[in-house]
Parts: sequence; structure tokens; C-alpha cells
Amino acid sequence: MQPAANDPTHTAMRAIRAIYAELDQRPVQRDCVRRTECCQFKLTGRTPTLTAGEALVAAAALKASGRRSLPDSADVETGRCPLLNPAGKCLIYEARPFGCRTHFCAAAGGPYTRNEVRDLVRGLEDIDAQLDGDGPHALPMAVEDALEKILHPPRGAQRK
Ligand code: SF4
Repeated sequence: MQPAANDPTHTAMRAIRAIYAELDQRPVQRDCVRRTECCQFKLTGRTPTLTAGEALVAAAALKASGRRSLPDSADVETGRCPLLNPAGKCLIYEARPFGCRTHFCAAAGGPYTRNEVRDLVRGLEDIDAQLDGDGPHALPMAVEDALEKILHPPRGAQRK
């Protein structure tokens, strides 16, 4: 079930997408060529963490791809992101989280500095607070929880 256009979840997701769009407009030289090295969390030593709003946007994109659960593509050895399909493509690339956009990928230009994205991070935190979030969570669990909320919204959050 889709959230109503004026419900807080829908509003938050729109705000998150606006932050991603704003990041895309920043005059910072980055060139993600989808190497997907940053999607192997154990190899990089880093797992992206998502605020509640980011997780909802990612989960909505996953649902839009026809899935009702996280794909079972995770790899314990590499820590492969479950959203990376067997062909090596991100299933939600256009909706990928902020951490995947401000990558720690040297080939793409390295991580953004805090100063380059401070206001956007603050925006993500504000939206998290509006959603009663408790801060960022590691990608797999964050997306799984958000998908559950989208597929089975609590009573009162559904469209009347
Ligand atoms: S969400 Fe997409 S871009 Fe981010 S780590 Fe997973 S597969 Fe890679």
C-alpha cells in the first residue's frame, strides 16, 4: 500500500530525494563509474549506515523493483551488499543512500569532506528526528526494517 501524499512518511521521502538531488548539484568533482567495490563492505571495512528516511527511500525503490524482501545475495566473506545483484548492479542505484553517494571510493574521487555536505547531513538528521528515528543503522537491517514498514504499515498510517 502506498502512503497518502500528505502523510509524514511520504513527505519525508520527498525531502530525502530532494537532498539527494541537491547533492547531485554540488560542484564537487566526483565520478561514480559503478565499480561496486564500495559495495563489498568487508573488503572496504565500511558498511553504509542509513537514517530512517533514507531507508524508506531505498526500501520503496526495492519494492518498486517487484521485491518484497531483501535479495539473498549477501556474501559473508566480502560483506557484499544485499542490494547488489548477481550481475554486479545496484538494484536501487537511483535511490541509493547518501553514504553510497558521498563514497569512500578513491576511483570516484574519494569521500566528500564534512564541510561539503554538512548542511545535507543535518537535513537527513532532521528528517530522521521527524520520523522518530534513532539515528543511522547499517544498510541491511535498515532497509529490511523499512521494507517491513512499507509492506505492513501500522494501523493509522494507511491510506483511508
Ligand atoms: S545500496 Fe547500491 S550502491 Fe550502495 S552499497 Fe548497496 S549495491 Fe552498492
